[in-house]
Parts: sequence; structure tokens; C-alpha cells
Amino acid sequence: MLNGKTAIITGASRGIGRAIANIFAENGALVGINYIKSDKKAKDLFNQIEQSGGKAILLKGDVSKQKDVENILKTFTSKTKKIDILVNNAGIYERSNFENISYDRWNKVISTNLTGSFNLCKKAIAYMKAGGKIIFISSQLAFKGSLHGADYASSKAGLLGLMRSLALELASKKINVNAIAPGTIDTDIIANYSKEIRKKRINEIPLKRLGTPNDIAYTCLFLASNMSDYITGETINVNGGLYIH
Ligand code: NAD
Repeated sequence: MLNGKTAIITGASRGIGRAIANIFAENGALVGINYIKSDKKAKDLFNQIEQSGGKAILLKGDVSKQKDVENILKTFTSKTKKIDILVNNAGIYERSNFENISYDRWNKVISTNLTGSFNLCKKAIAYMKAGGKIIFISSQLAFKGSLHGADYASSKAGLLGLMRSLALELASKKINVNAIAPGTIDTDIIANYSKEIRKKRINEIPLKRLGTPNDIAYTCLFLASNMSDYITGETINVNGGLYIH
């Protein structure tokens, strides 16, 4: 589905980003694996993709830092000359109530989850001359709000505003811009959930299971492929029925 396409995926060394990188590579894309710290995990993914006949480029860097993003784009485009697909997936989440959110933490969450995506879009669009696809990984909490993460919910709601605005602005350049709002997906980001919270979450989900990284990756594949060429400015909710719009 993505033969000949080039794709950058942020935060791709583990979890949802890793699943997206794998599925994109299996479908013929050359994938740029952005990661911030985990050299080993990123290299393992790189080797796994190359050994299966796919193509990948390692892109170390912090999406919240403009200089890092410039380097990420430079490394990628010096080899590919173009970007067809950008998946803004990198994100952080810590549970705590509003009173315990310090200014430092607020700034870190916004600069990673929201400004990080802004940084990538800012630089990547110039390389999408033949059109392209931009996909944001938001969250159901953008709609519901969060009891234990006002900073996170705000950043994820902000992404939807950015997504809709870019969809309007970039339509004339044949760049489709969409978002995915995952429900509760079984990755490291929810590793600090106690057994009780986990059980409670599963019980609340009509499909009676947590989502898997592949549930999100397949939706992302659809949005990255030409099967979704007439969709822009949309958010696809992938949440097992937990929050039906
Ligand atoms: P994860 O913690 O496994 O993955 C997040 C990735 O982002 C990690 O690899 C991390 O190193 C990377 N990252 C963090 N800060 C970064 C930075 N400054 N620069 C570059 N990379 C950075 O969690 P995940 O569940 O795979 O999350 C992926 C995305 O999905 C996140 O945006 C998250 O908010 C979103 N999401 C997850 C869930 C869920 O339940 N797991 C639900 C809704 C949305």
C-alpha cells in the first residue's frame, strides 16, 4: 500500500510508533525511525526492518527542540529528497491531578506533545511538493478531558486544532491532514496503571479489551495510503467503543 513512499514516524522505538514503523515498512515505505534515547531499541527495529527486506533510516532527536528537528529532517531528506508521510506520534503522559502539575511539567508536556508536532510540520511541508499525508496521534482525552492529566488532554486537544487548520491550509498542496484518537492502548505509557485500574478500564470498554499498537497502526496505514485520498481534517476514534461520538 505504500510502495515508493517515504515516511517519518516520531517516537518510533517502542509502542504505537514502533508498530506503525513496522507496518509501514511491511507495506513498502522507507521509514524514518525517530527516537529520543533508546538507541538499542531503535537499532533493533532498524535491523528487524532491513532483515525483512524493508528500508529504514535512524533519526535520533528530541521533537521539542527545533535544532534536533532540523537535523532529523536534514538526515532524512539528504537520502530521500522528499517526505510523503509524517506521523506525529511522540508523546508523554504522567498521571497527576491539576494541583500537582508544576509549570515545568506543563511546559514539558506541551512542548513535547504539541510544539513537537508543530516543529515537525513546520519543516516537513517544504519536502511534500508532490502532496502528502500528515497524521497526528491525539487521544480520546482530547474530547473527554482527563481526571489525571489536564496538561496531556490540553496538548492532545491542541493537536486537533492544529490538524484541522493545516487540513484547510494544505488542501491546495494535496496534503491530507488527519488525526487518530486512540482509547486505552496497551503500551509502556500506561505501564504505571495498577492492576485494579487496568481491570476497571477493560470493564468500561464495550469491546472488553485494551487496544493494541497494531489497532492504531492499521488505522494509520489507511490514512497514509491512497485509500483515504478524499479524507482530510478528520479524526478517527480507535477506542473499542469506549467513547462513541
Ligand atoms: P510510549 O511511551 O511507548 O511511546 C511514546 C514514544 O514517544 C516513546 O518512544 C518516547 O521515547 C517518545 N518520545 C517522548 N518524548 C519524545 C521527544 N521529546 N522526542 C522524540 N520522541 C519522544 O507510548 P505509546 O502508547 O506508544 O504512545 C504513542 C502516542 O500515542 C503518544 O502520543 C500517546 O500520547 C498516544 N496515545 C497513547 C494512548 C495509550 O493508551 N497508549 C492513548 C492515546 C494516545
